[in-house]
Amino acid sequence: MRLCLNVRFRARARGLAPVRWLASCLFARVAVSVISLHDRALGAYLAFAAGDALGATAEFMTAGEIACTYKGGLRNIVGGGWLHLKPGQVTDDTQMSLALGDALLAARGWDLRMVADAFVGWMRSKPPDIGHACRRGIRRYMIDGTLCTPPADDNAGNGAAMRNLPVALATLDSPELFARCSLEQAHITHHHPLSDAATLLLGQLTQILLLGGSIADCRGCVTEFLGRHPRFHFEPWPGNTSGFIVDTVQTVLHAFFRNGDIESCIVDVVNRGGDADTAGALVGQLAGACYGVQGLPPRWLKQLDARIVERIRRQTASLLALPRPLPLRAATPSSISPA
Ligand code: MN
Ligand code: MN
Repeated sequence: MRLCLNVRFRARARGLAPVRWLASCLFARVAVSVISLHDRALGAYLAFAAGDALGATAEFMTAGEIACTYKGGLRNIVGGGWLHLKPGQVTDDTQMSLALGDALLAARGWDLRMVADAFVGWMRSKPPDIGHACRRGIRRYMIDGTLCTPPADDNAGNGAAMRNLPVALATLDSPELFARCSLEQAHITHHHPLSDAATLLLGQLTQILLLGGSIADCRGCVTEFLGRHPRFHFEPWPGNTSGFIVDTVQTVLHAFFRNGDIESCIVDVVNRGGDADTAGALVGQLAGACYGVQGLPPRWLKQLDARIVERIRRQTASLLALPRPLPLRAATPSSISPA
């Protein structure tokens, strides 16, 4: 009786007949649960790249400048920005992720030296942009071959967290391996407790969603995280959009929890300016894992560089097909000639 009343009440609140309301709920349940792991993973990677390509246009602008330049907000991937990008071109965020993913696939497991070599190969390809800590860490590796940068106060940028999606995809069923590989790749260029904490959190949230977990599950994970790392509190949103990892995580979480689809998550973040491409990419990663590749606006998929889309499609499928648990390889001798 109580259940019956409840159904009637809720159905009326949605303006539907009770039977149709129940059917729509059941359908929503089914529709959510039929997003396959592959579609969530591909959604995460492509929405990450779309957030990068859209946000790069607004990187280092203020919200006010963006609002003046783009009536109704920046919503289409148009290129430009301080890097003078072609429409659909991606930046270091997507490129470093692809380099890390390629290293995982070449090793068919985890070989940190191959990851570092892939970063060197990327830096030598003359990318449009490269962060200060990334350049310094990759240079250090080229000079002395060390795989871990010493801890430093200025290592709390978002460069390590921004490229960790391939690790999240390759270690889905092993939290220990995920943590180990995430921190090892991070420490090639960034060694700071805030960067470490954020790299792990964003990867964990992504994995929860990839495995079909709910937004409420993510909330629980974040609440527990904030108990250990109160600096990351994001409600109310503190209003900072720099490349400092705390600012980035706050902006990303704020947008992820208050928007209900991929497009609004990314548009929300990108129009706040600052490190818009990286924050856009990271919120895209979460939203894409949550809503799946079907939730990506078709016009963004069309606007993205087709070669990048193809590499992401192939890499996503191959990363998911890697042996589980991911084999740990002894570090191979570097194939990189000294700088
Ligand atoms: Mn970038
Ligand atoms: Mn950036």
